[in-house]
Amino acid sequence: MTEGIKNKVVVITGASSGLGEATARHLAAKGASVVLGARRADRIHALAEELTAAGHKAKAVATDVTDRDQVKDLVQAAIDTFGRIDVMLNNAGLMPLAPLERLKIDEWDRMIDVNLKGVLYGIAAALPRMQAQKSGHIINVSSVYGHVVDPGATVYCATKHAVRALSEGLRKEVKPYNIRTTVISPGAVSTELLEHISEKDIQQGTRDFVSKIAVGPDTFARAVAFAINEPDDVDINEILFRPTAQP
Ligand code: NDP
Repeated sequence: MTEGIKNKVVVITGASSGLGEATARHLAAKGASVVLGARRADRIHALAEELTAAGHKAKAVATDVTDRDQVKDLVQAAIDTFGRIDVMLNNAGLMPLAPLERLKIDEWDRMIDVNLKGVLYGIAAALPRMQAQKSGHIINVSSVYGHVVDPGATVYCATKHAVRALSEGLRKEVKPYNIRTTVISPGAVSTELLEHISEKDIQQGTRDFVSKIAVGPDTFARAVAFAINEPDDVDINEILFRPTAQP
């Protein structure tokens, strides 16, 4: 059994930018073997090559988290390459904000598919192996929007509230298997998240607000590292952080 971060095998979805990329860099530098999943294969392969060239351990697998077989293959690649999976970081997500009355129904579907079903597929892929190992750690990414609801963010908030609910249920269910669960709820962090807001007025307003207060993605990476680095008999169930300037 590996304690701390060094030599742990960490699978990260959404590793091609933002929080996932920063976490991959942070954990690899601390001696973890990182397995990177995202759809933009060029980005994750370049990152894996960069980390490997720096003497770290990394593997990239093009993955769409809305396809459960691809998520299974991502976890299998971690086991084939590094022999086990210690941490599953279900981080992939998107936030195309818009009021309900604009009926962006395809975007609602997309958020449910990626933010919620993608997390469930990550759990489904990692859980059997972790149960067999009698150890593991599943980290799900919610949001401050998993704690509050603002107009214009209703569907996103619903997905992030759901991630907190399923993380709490998971926590209780996996006790017998010595599996830790953590849900992390970040506040505003500078990433590419706002680039996928299709409603230009809302995108601009959100950018104006976020750019004044956002902190860097390393903030999130440090939170992940903290949860993993605690001794294995300590389960950091939930982390919520905001930039100090965020209301
Ligand atoms: P980014 O847009 O920078 O990163 C999102 C990541 O998700 C990308 O790597 C993207 O990769 C991946 N992704 C999106 N769709 C899919 C898919 N179908 N399959 C696989 N990967 C996918 O944003 P962040 O880093 O900010 O977002 C990461 C998480 O953090 C999200 O869950 C977000 O909701 C959450 N969050 C972010 C906050 C912030 O302020 N930035 C605050 C609170 C929560 P690719 O496009 O290559 O597939």
